[in-house]
Amino acid sequence: MKRIVSWTALSLTLAWTAAGVGSSAGRRNNLVLFVADGLRGGMVDAHTAPNMTALGQRGVSFPNSHSIMPPFTMANASVLATGHYLGDTGVFSNTIYVAFPVPGLAGNITPFLENDAVLHALDDHFAGDYLNETTLLKAAHDIGLSTAAVGKLGPALLFDHTDREPLRTIVIDDSTGSANGHSVPPDVLEAMRNAGLPIASPSRGANGQAGSFTIPGTKSANIQQQSHFADVVTKIILPRFKKRNQPFVLVFWSRDPDGTQHNQGDSLNQLTPGINGPTSLAAIKNADDVLGKIEAALSELGIASSTNIAVTADHGFSTISTESQTSPAARVSYKDVLPNHLPAGFLALDIAKVLGLPVFDPDDKNSRIVAGSHSIRGNGLIGENPDRPDVVVAANGGSDLIYLPSMDRSLAKRIVGILLEQDYVSGVFVDDALERIPGTLPLSSINLKGRSVTPTPAIVVNFRTFDSGCSKPTNCGVVVADTFYQQGQGQHGSFGRADTFNFMAAAGPDFKRAFVDPAPVSNADLGRTLSEVLGLRIKPRGRLLGRVIREAMPGGTTPRFSSRTLVSESGYNGLATILNYQIAGDTKYFDAAGFSGRTLGLVEQNPFPSSQRRGGAARREPDRAKPQEKRRRGGQFGPNVSPL
Ligand SMILES: [Zn+2]
Repeated sequence: MKRIVSWTALSLTLAWTAAGVGSSAGRRNNLVLFVADGLRGGMVDAHTAPNMTALGQRGVSFPNSHSIMPPFTMANASVLATGHYLGDTGVFSNTIYVAFPVPGLAGNITPFLENDAVLHALDDHFAGDYLNETTLLKAAHDIGLSTAAVGKLGPALLFDHTDREPLRTIVIDDSTGSANGHSVPPDVLEAMRNAGLPIASPSRGANGQAGSFTIPGTKSANIQQQSHFADVVTKIILPRFKKRNQPFVLVFWSRDPDGTQHNQGDSLNQLTPGINGPTSLAAIKNADDVLGKIEAALSELGIASSTNIAVTADHGFSTISTESQTSPAARVSYKDVLPNHLPAGFLALDIAKVLGLPVFDPDDKNSRIVAGSHSIRGNGLIGENPDRPDVVVAANGGSDLIYLPSMDRSLAKRIVGILLEQDYVSGVFVDDALERIPGTLPLSSINLKGRSVTPTPAIVVNFRTFDSGCSKPTNCGVVVADTFYQQGQGQHGSFGRADTFNFMAAAGPDFKRAFVDPAPVSNADLGRTLSEVLGLRIKPRGRLLGRVIREAMPGGTTPRFSSRTLVSESGYNGLATILNYQIAGDTKYFDAAGFSGRTLGLVEQNPFPSSQRRGGAARREPDRAKPQEKRRRGGQFGPNVSPL
C-alpha cells in the first residue's frame, strides 16, 4: 500500500512542477479572483446575483463545487492561496491552537486568525511561514506580475502573508491605516489621497451590529466599507496595473454575504427566514454589485478580454440553532443566553463538566469560567493549570477543534465517549496518531493529515445540521453552532452540504465558453488551477494537492469520477461516523459527514452489499481505521452532480 501512495504523490509532484505557461494562447493573461465570502452554491440566479450568473453562463459554471472541510474562511483562504488541503497548510479553521502565547493577544494560545498582526506573529514563530507552502501572490510577484489583495481582514493578507518591506503586494483590508494594519506602499497611499479616498478603511457601521438575544442584529448590508474597497480597486489599483503593463493578479475578498448573514437581524431566535431574509439577500446583491464594478472598470481600461475572472465562495452557510436536549451547559441559566439554549463554549463546558476539571477562557486572560458564565468566543482551556491545559477547545461554529497537548490516547477515548452522548454532535474525526477509536474516522480521511507546521487537532467535532424546509435544502440549512451569535442568525463550518456547497464560476480567455462542468471541483482545485493559468512554478512541500480543472480550459476533457461512502466502526452506543465523498483520479471531494440522521445531505444507504465492495479504493484507506468503504453508485458520474 505504501508504495502505491508514494508513487501517486510523486506523480502529482511531477505534474505540478512541470506545469508550463498556462495560457492557451501562449500569452499570460491577467487574473481576478473574486471571493464572495459565505455565498451558498444554490443562491445565485439572475435575480439574486445577475453579474455572477452572467459570468457563469458566458464562461464555466461549477454546480458540483466544494468548500474544504472544515468550511471556514481562513481555512479555505489557505487552500485557495496554495492549492493544498488543510493537512498541509495547517489552517484547520478560523481559530486554532498554536501552542505558544501570541504576542499582542495577551498571551492567547487560541488566536482568531482574521487579524494581520496575528498572521505576522504566526509567521515569526513558525520559521517565517506558518502555511509552509508558497502562496499565489508571492509566486506571481516572483515572476514579475503585479499583485494586490483587497477586502476582508485576514484572508486578504493571507494571499501574501510573508510580504515585508519593501512591499511586493498591495494589501488593503479593514485594518488599513490603523495601528495594527499591514503596510501599504507610499505611492499607493499618495494616489489614494489624490483621488480623495480615505487612507483608513471605513468601519462596517451598522452592518457590524450583531445584536443580542433580545436585540435584533443588523438590517444593513456592508455597503459603506465594501464600496470603499471597490473604489480602491477600480480607481487606484487597476489603472496602476494597466500603466505598469505587466500581467496582474488581483484578489478581491468580499466580506458580504458572510458578515451580514452572521449578524442579520431578520430572524431573532427563529429558524425562518434565518439567512434567507431581506438583509442577507441584500448582502448577496452587494457582493454581486462589487463584482459588476470591477468588470466595468476592466472594460473601461480596455483589459477585459485579457483578464480571467474566477469567482468562488470560501464556504456555504446555515441558520443557527442553539437547541440541545442533552447538553449540561444548556441546563444552566446565563444572563445573555436564551433560557435552556446553548451558550458559546458549550462544548468546552460539557467536556470539562464530565471530566470534573476546571475550564479557563483564553480570550479573557485565562480567567476561570465559573458556574452561570461562559467563555467570550467559545474557546476553553480545560485542566487545573491554564498554562498547561490537558484539553484545548478551539471553538469555530459548525465544528470545533479539540487539541490534546499530551496526545493521551485514554483521554481521547474518554472525550469521544462524552461526544457520542450529545445530540448536537454529528461525526467525530480523530488524529491517525491516536489510532482507531470506535465511532470515529481518522483525520486523514478528510485530508487533515499532511505537512502542516501548526499543531494538528486531536479531535475534530462536527455539529448537527438539518434543513428548515425549502425546495433546495442546501439553501435553508440549519446548524447547531458553537458561537456567540443568536439562534436565527447565521454560521457555517459544519460538514453538512449547506456549508460545504459553495458558489463557483470562471470566465475569460483561458476558460471554456458556456460550459457547465459536471465534475466535482473544490477550492483546492481552484487554487491549483489559477497557478496553472498564470504559468507559476510552485514547488510543493506537502502532497495534499487539488487537481488542475483541465475540463474548464479549452480542449480539456471531463475526468471520470464517482461517489463513495466511508463508514467508521460503530461506537459503544451504535453511532458511526459516515463520510460521503466523490473522487476524480486521486482527488477527493468531501460532500457531507456525520452520524445517521444528523447531517444535511448525508447519504446513508448503500446500494451495494459489502460482498460487492470495490476493493481498489478501499485499500487506499488507512488500515488502522478499518473503515467500510463503498461506492454509492456505479458509472462515470455519481449521483451528486446536482447536489440535493
Ligand atoms: Zn463567517
